[in-house]
Amino acid sequence: MRTSRKLSKTNYLVYRDCAHNAWVKIHRPEVYHARPPSVFEQAVMDTGNDVDARARDIFPDGVLIRRGDADGTAQLVAERYGVLYQPVFETDRYTTACDVLVWSEDRGVYDLYEVKASTSGDDRKAKDDLYAHDLAFQANVLTECGVPLGRFHLVRLDSSYVSDGTLDLQRLFTREDFTDRVTPLLETVAAEMDAAHDVLSLDTMPPAPCACVYKGRSSHCTSFSFINGHVPEYSVHDLTRIGASPRRLRALVDADILDIADIPDDFELTVNQANQVRAARQGRAFLEVAPLGEFLNRLRYPISFLDYETYPCALPRFARFRPYDHVPFQFSQHVVSHPGGEAVHRDFLFTGRACPDEYFIGALKDAIPAEGSIVVWNRPFERGINAKLAERLPDEREFLNSVNERIVDLMDVFTGQMVIHPKFRGRTSIKWVLPALVPQLSYQGLAIQEGATASETWNRIVTGDLEGDEAEEARKDLLTYCKRDSLAMVEIWRALLAAVAAREIREAG
Ligand code: SF4
Repeated sequence: MRTSRKLSKTNYLVYRDCAHNAWVKIHRPEVYHARPPSVFEQAVMDTGNDVDARARDIFPDGVLIRRGDADGTAQLVAERYGVLYQPVFETDRYTTACDVLVWSEDRGVYDLYEVKASTSGDDRKAKDDLYAHDLAFQANVLTECGVPLGRFHLVRLDSSYVSDGTLDLQRLFTREDFTDRVTPLLETVAAEMDAAHDVLSLDTMPPAPCACVYKGRSSHCTSFSFINGHVPEYSVHDLTRIGASPRRLRALVDADILDIADIPDDFELTVNQANQVRAARQGRAFLEVAPLGEFLNRLRYPISFLDYETYPCALPRFARFRPYDHVPFQFSQHVVSHPGGEAVHRDFLFTGRACPDEYFIGALKDAIPAEGSIVVWNRPFERGINAKLAERLPDEREFLNSVNERIVDLMDVFTGQMVIHPKFRGRTSIKWVLPALVPQLSYQGLAIQEGATASETWNRIVTGDLEGDEAEEARKDLLTYCKRDSLAMVEIWRALLAAVAAREIREAG
């Protein structure tokens, strides 16, 4: 059975990535959207919209087309209107909205501009290929609609741009001519569009399994379980770093060995993978007492457990920031000054309109003891924030460098498999480790339970989206969440000390 429907640019791009996922998106939206977009995903979409809107200012005097208004667009194009934002085009089989169309009187053509919220330095090759296909889809639809087309451009953020406190849009955005990349693709993309239209019009899904049955869990999209109902929730796809050993994963899947506990003893695995299988099969935790003891002995008192919260800002808000530089706005710290001592809490949260940098560093200087280890979870993050702060405030470089030199990563215990627990499922995030080792402490019930929500909450406070009591409540939620992060590290550390002393993990199983 076939139900013809117009293929949008978004669905074409999803199809290029994965036909199965595109089919589920169109035919089983309740599966595709089973989980509402996470705060992080929503923030990415909002950022894209913000960047789009600001980019329009570099093409002044345009008219913004209403969503879905193909007739209105056609009329303005027939009049050769100078600048169109979000014009909409439809053919029998396709539909697309463009970001900006600019009429060139000299050449008698419209130039097409696609705006992306990424920076010019990001992961360039794969993204440029995707953007060229994106532009080619639009070009094919516009040509079929009879629009005379000139050049194809990509507009994105310049990663080298440093704000002086105001936004110079002409320098913030780069305009790159993609015509030479897009033109040779037009025919191939037209054929792909036809194929995508046909496959996605079918009422039956392309046959299962999907390609990710041979890829590790991090590659799987939300449609995986729907398409591959025979794969257990904790499967061979969860083996640590299995994505880097596709041959091994293929051998297991082809032999119909899907449950991680069913992997035969003589199957070749890395040491870490074999340890994970052993823990899953025996349903208990394992401890590498010697390296763990060494790790814990290296920590120097007073031990500070430190956690930062930041907001990644696509459009720089303050002087000396580049696109996507993180604004550090909060930290929480617990300090244990001697063996057996209490964990003393300090924190900082800045919700003013000014740049938090100087206040953040001032509070950090007050809070952090002059000596001792500074324990974080995922060292590159806090170190990276400190390095950026030092770049923006060179007078503080010495202090920030000294903090970085003292940082110890508690996550190393888990990436190094000094502790292996079946409940970790091969993961090393604190959100997996905490409930396994310290079940009495959790993020459940907190209004904010992860970093992306914290970022967005802060942004809503400082942009005035939350006011009065709501803003006050949100401030409390931020303080509670960040405090939980640093306390979680303290309690995991204590659980590790107890485990080394007892030579076992008591919460195992
Ligand atoms: S899990 Fe991978 S192959 Fe399967 S539908 Fe999702 S993206 Fe496609």
